[in-house]
Parts: sequence; C-alpha cells; structure tokens
Amino acid sequence: PPSRTTFNSGGGGVRTGRVPVGIGRKRLRIVVTGGAGFVGSHLVDKLIGRGDEVIVIDNFFTGRKENLVHLFSNPRFELIRHDVVEPILLEVDQIYHLACPASPVHYKYNPVKTIKTNVMGTLNMLGLAKRVGARFLLTSTSEVYGDPLEHPQKETYWGNVNPIGERSCYDEGKRTAETLAMDYHRGAGVEVRIARIFNTYGPRMCLDDGRVVSNFVAQTIRKLPMTVYGDGKQTRSFQYVSDLVEGLVALMENDHVGPFNLGNPGEFTMLELAEVVKEVIDPSATIEFKPNTADDPHKRKPDISKAKELLNWEPKIPLREGLPRMVSDFRNRILNEDEGKGL
Ligand code: NAD
Ligand code: UDP
Ligand code: UDP
Repeated sequence: PPSRTTFNSGGGGVRTGRVPVGIGRKRLRIVVTGGAGFVGSHLVDKLIGRGDEVIVIDNFFTGRKENLVHLFSNPRFELIRHDVVEPILLEVDQIYHLACPASPVHYKYNPVKTIKTNVMGTLNMLGLAKRVGARFLLTSTSEVYGDPLEHPQKETYWGNVNPIGERSCYDEGKRTAETLAMDYHRGAGVEVRIARIFNTYGPRMCLDDGRVVSNFVAQTIRKLPMTVYGDGKQTRSFQYVSDLVEGLVALMENDHVGPFNLGNPGEFTMLELAEVVKEVIDPSATIEFKPNTADDPHKRKPDISKAKELLNWEPKIPLREGLPRMVSDFRNRILNEDEGKGL
C-alpha cells in the first residue's frame, strides 16, 4: 500500500496535489459505493456538480448504468463494477457507503448475500477508510428501530427488532454495520458518520422494487389498481430524494458522528398515500387490498430535532410536491418497457 503520509487529510481534503475548486476548498476524491442505485446516483450528481472527483463502486444488483450514463464522458467520474464483499484498494478522501439493496423485495431475494454485503462490505470499506485516512459515511436505516415501541423515533431509541425474521438480514445487517463503524471510530480513529435514512422516493427508483411509492405510482400510470397491503392503516414518512442528498452531504461535511435520523416527519397511512397519488397523478385511480408481509412495522416517523440542531438540515419538499416530480421519469421508463415488449 502507498505510504500513509500521503494521506493526511482525515477526510478534510488536504491530500497533497489536490486541485483547488472554487475559493478555499480543494477538489476531493470521493468513493460512492452503490452509486449506480437510486439514492447513490443522485448523490453522485451532486458531488460531480460541485466539482469533486467521484469513483462509483457497484455490482449492478439493483443499480443501473442508465442512472449514470450522463456522466460517462466526464473526466472527474469513474465507474467500477465491483462487489464490496471483496476487498479493494483505492486512494480517496471520503467514502459514502451506500451499497446494499434497500427494497424488501430485493433484500429478501438472497438474504445471505444481503447480510454479507452489510457486514463484509462495510468491514472492507472501513478497512479502506482506515488505510487511507478517509472519512466514512454509512447509510443506515430507520429499520434499525424495527417495529418501534417509541413514536416518533429518536436516535436514542435502541429499537425493537426480530433477530430471526425475514427482514433480519437487512435490519440486523445494518445494526451490525453501525456497530462496525463505531468500533473502527473508537478503536482505529476512523472519522465516521452515520445516517439513519427513512423511506425515500423520487426519480430513478426501480420500477418494480415493490416499495409502496414506486408501486402506487407505476400502478397508477399503468392504469392498474394500487395494491394496499393489510388494512392500509400502517404509517410511513416519505422523504424526497434531493432532501436526503442534502442531508447526507451536510452530515459528511460536519463534525458530528451521529447517528442522525434523515427523513421527512410528515406521516401518512398507506390509504392516505393512495389518496395523494390519486389527487396528484390520476383522479380515476383505484385501490385493491392484498395481504400484508411478515413483520411489517406498524408505524414509522422520524424525530429530526438532532439533525435540525446540529446539521442545520431539514427536508423542504412535502409529499404533494415530490410525487409529481417522479412521474415523468416513471412514465418514460414504463413507455420504453412497453415498447421493448412490442406492445
Ligand atoms: P438501491 O437498491 O437503488 O441502491 C443500492 C445500490 O447498491 C445498487 O446500485 C446496487 O447495485 C448496489 N449494491 C448492492 N449490493 C452491492 C454489493 N454487494 N457490492 C456493490 N454494490 C452493491 O437502493 P437505494 O434506495 O438507493 O439505497 C441506498 C442506500 O440507502 C442503501 O444502503 C439503503 O439501505 C439505504 N436506505 C435507503 C432507503 C430508501 O428509502 N431508499 C431507506 C433507508 C436506507
Ligand atoms: N480492506 C480493503 N481495502 C483497503 C484496506 C482494507 O478492502 O484498502 C479490507 C481488508 O481486506 C479487510 C478489511 O478491509 O478485509 C478490514 O481491514 P482492516 O485493515 O481493518 O483489518 P485486517 O485486514 O487487519 O483484518
Ligand atoms: N405496501 C403497500 N402496498 C405495496 C407495497 C407496500 O401497502 O404495494 C406497504 C407495506 O406493507 C408497508 C409500507 O407500504 O407497510 C411501506 O413498504 P415499503 O416496502 O415501501 O417500505 P418499508 O416496509 O421498508 O418501510
């Protein structure tokens, strides 16, 4: 490995030989794992847009080259097909570690792979951060609170998680990833940041990932009924993706380890969400009820006072404004799919 003395930044971006961007800041080299996915690709756009170099590591399990194709000719952008379960050597200032399937349909598809990604993948990225002195941000999840017994959830709540259920590969995987991050922080001095992300939606979500917002929007565009699971009275809080990206960058650039809840505190039942979709996309949309999945959390709503106070961050885009912003992207992709099938 290269000499550690070259990497004296601790994520602060004072690596030798960096090119200045704008006034008072050096250009950073940043890894985004999972950067071909929904959230990752929006984050990459933001980092490239402000003048930094970005290396995306992705195995394309749920990510797509299409999400990044507009950056392929940019000399500050690189894309590596790589699985984070395997070690990798890179020289960077910051690591945003997002690689992990996020939708229940995807993470339950191969649960052993999901937990390996969370545990071995996070270990490798922390090992990389330790070796080069990079700052490391983990995208954890509201799922660490499980089916919460405290409402709304504060970062101090330890959670109510089933260790042997169908969701455990993800929930417990992320809990272990948080533990690893804190152990590398305390034990090896790695600068870490932990974000606990609540349900997020927007353009580039996988069309058929089974999440409630993508399902309802795609179903409505396809003139199919929206599938409400269970009685539809369970609640979630939905955050528009640009708000999340702002929060992740604010967290990376600030001095606080976290964990920080990043979510929109607006709370909706699934029936209310269906009403909003109807109102903003198609007034003739209908619903149908389906059985719910196992261990489905009954309610979820972030308490974001900590992020407001310490990161000066809060979401700006309410559901009624965010939903219309994803419609044209979904319409175009659904149209392309139909054309591909010769319909
Ligand atoms: P996504 O599925 O669109 O993106 C995940 C990306 O990681 C994909 O590009 C996928 O190909 C890649 N990936 C998966 N396993 C990998 C591996 N072993 N090696 C390399 N790449 C791998 O999901 P997303 O919604 O963009 O989520 C991004 C991160 O945010 C995830 O860590 C997720 O747990 C977290 N998160 C998301 C939400 C949300 O609502 N979207 C909520 C909480 C947490
Ligand atoms: N690692 C990596 N890239 C690096 C440095 C480490 O992928 O640049 C991996 C390494 O292969 C190991 C993990 O990260 O599997 C943890 O590394 P660490 O140095 O903390 O532990 P050790 O290698 O001593 O077990
Ligand atoms: N859900 C639903 N219809 C769907 C997909 C999901 O009613 O077509 C419900 C699901 O039962 C859960 C909520 O929507 O209560 C959010 O599910 P999602 O998979 O989007 O996210 P998560 O459970 O991870 O919060």
